[in-house]
Amino acid sequence: MKYTKVGAVSLGCSKNTVDTEIMLGELASLGFELVPDPGQAEIIIVNTCGFITSAKQDSLDTIIEMAEYKKTGPAKLLCVTGCLSQRYPRELSEELPEVDLFWGVRDYPAFAQKLFSLVSEGDVPSAKWLPTVPCCGAKRLISTPPYRAYLRIADGCDNRCTYCAIPLIRGGRVSVPMEKLVAEAAALAESGVTELTVIAQDTSAYGIDLYGKPMLAELLKKLSAIEKLRWIRVLYAYPNTVTEELVDTMRDDPKLCNYIDIPIQHITPRMLTRMNRHGSAEHIREIVDYIRRNAPDFILRTTVMTGFPGETEEDHQELMKFLRLHPFDRVGAFTYSAEDGTPAAEMPEQVDPEVAERRLDELMRLQQSVSLRLNRARVGREYTVLTESVGSDGRGEYLISRSYAEAPDVDGVIRVRPGEGKRFNKLILPGDYVKVRITGAQLYDLNAELIQEEKQ
Ligand code: SF4
Repeated sequence: MKYTKVGAVSLGCSKNTVDTEIMLGELASLGFELVPDPGQAEIIIVNTCGFITSAKQDSLDTIIEMAEYKKTGPAKLLCVTGCLSQRYPRELSEELPEVDLFWGVRDYPAFAQKLFSLVSEGDVPSAKWLPTVPCCGAKRLISTPPYRAYLRIADGCDNRCTYCAIPLIRGGRVSVPMEKLVAEAAALAESGVTELTVIAQDTSAYGIDLYGKPMLAELLKKLSAIEKLRWIRVLYAYPNTVTEELVDTMRDDPKLCNYIDIPIQHITPRMLTRMNRHGSAEHIREIVDYIRRNAPDFILRTTVMTGFPGETEEDHQELMKFLRLHPFDRVGAFTYSAEDGTPAAEMPEQVDPEVAERRLDELMRLQQSVSLRLNRARVGREYTVLTESVGSDGRGEYLISRSYAEAPDVDGVIRVRPGEGKRFNKLILPGDYVKVRITGAQLYDLNAELIQEEKQ
């Protein structure tokens, strides 16, 4: 092969991370050598995000940055894949002549074959052995730390929220058959994964297209039966398919993290209707109250938006009041972004971006006080935590870790010390589970001391 060294930059969400992992698994199986630093690569792949304006700009900036390596480094080919490329193929190919290959969001095995045909000089693919796992008929190479991984259970979305470009990019929901997911999860567990994070654009609607009804609870039970898996977490659930049965299933199984991410986006009926959000404000209140009453250890995460067209100060204050009276442990918030091709972008009463920013500030300041209060309430409690890294500073050794209550890559961490005047007696490594007691709280992070060194 003319060029073999491949470097990839994966932008956007965890679903895109899985796409990048499939690309890398397929390329490795054709004999390409994967290099961690794109600056050392002969072939650079930028897997882009095209969700909102800021993410699109970030993708363009990254493409331009990587193109520089064709002038300054060993790079010979630049490939752009993913959501931005899927959404704007013609515009990008006109504006970015430095890109050699554009690919969308589908069929990454074919992408790998295409790249191979571009660089092979009649060579026969000779697979490089790397620990790939089967993923929907493709090979996937995990890019997260070896003890944790994402499991994407469906792609695309049928909800058609009026502000969202994802259905325009990824199409309607396509759930992965349960037996394939269980096989993928089992292979991940065999490869050393103990923490599995279940993702999709809308996880709680999983299976409606395949089985005629939501099947997330059934899938979680099957995943929980995989012996070597320890923590199974759910992100990106959709309010109207989060049921008491699903909550009870998660509460009653020790492997299923008492943690759920339910983006609500807003709470006033007027805003939910304009956003075309399915399910009512009443259902959101009921399911949050049900969780708080029946599953007190549950951690609730959500996402909200400010400045959606037509949002009044009353709507905003209603959302603030809701988050005060029904506190979430974790809140991600962003201002509305007018995306071309979406109904909301054509709506009247577009909100002044400065007003949207001011409302975002107010909301995040409220959430900081909520987060600190809820974190303080955890002081003194004991947890099993997963070690992510080990370090030391002027105060000695520490572990950066997470309990079931902290999702990877999006939530705070727990910094663990050996205890006053003590040292860690045993070698604790990333991926190890140890027992700790919370000793202090910050806005988003916690401090803890080790209480049991025996790996749990
Ligand atoms: S649920 Fe709404 S916001 Fe989320 S991916 Fe689907 S259409 Fe987009």
